[in-house]
Amino acid sequence: MAMEFLIATHNMKKRDELYRILSPLGIDVKTADQVGIEITDVDETGETFFENALLKAQSGCRESGMPCVADDSGLAVDYLVGAPGVYSARFAGVHGDDEANNQKLLKLLRDVPVEERTGRYVSVVCCVFPNGDILSARGTCEGYIGFEPRGNGGFGYDPLFVMGEKTMAELTAEEKDAISHRGEATRLLAEKLKEYFEQQK
Ligand code: IMP
Repeated sequence: MAMEFLIATHNMKKRDELYRILSPLGIDVKTADQVGIEITDVDETGETFFENALLKAQSGCRESGMPCVADDSGLAVDYLVGAPGVYSARFAGVHGDDEANNQKLLKLLRDVPVEERTGRYVSVVCCVFPNGDILSARGTCEGYIGFEPRGNGGFGYDPLFVMGEKTMAELTAEEKDAISHRGEATRLLAEKLKEYFEQQK
């Protein structure tokens, strides 16, 4: 029988990305809505992706009594000295307003040449167990910021985030998993979970 892990997000796209990678391990990742419980939205007061991921996973685990995974992720643009970073979701002021965030990014990079538009997505995935054990992993994905949005897939900054010829929003879900920061972090976490379960035997 699959083990149920809570995922501390309401973002079904993030849930699906983690589910696709963790389900082969027998881990069924579910949102609070899917489990039928309510969990508090945690203020992301950390200064790093790790601190925020840990805050979310610890709170979700404490409130649900289930092992809880949480991801904190964002975009770091070199020309903007790492911004928007941990503020990626609320870059333009309103949490999760992807359209406004993308417009703000384009405005800040207006007239910046392609070679100075480099950046990376970063994801830290944390898993906290009811006994207090913590596992975490980090992944990155290098690219640059395009001059206009392209594609309908993904979410957030994906229509502006270019790797090679395509934006992240022009990739299929499977193509994105194979190269994305969250894919890398989650695959590393899956390795660590496998070792963790081996040690418990
Ligand atoms: P979080 O929910 O606090 O981790 O915020 C992550 C924010 O970073 C999102 O709202 C997006 O703006 C951005 N972000 C993180 N991962 C991705 C991705 O895979 N594609 C596009 N944007 C992302």
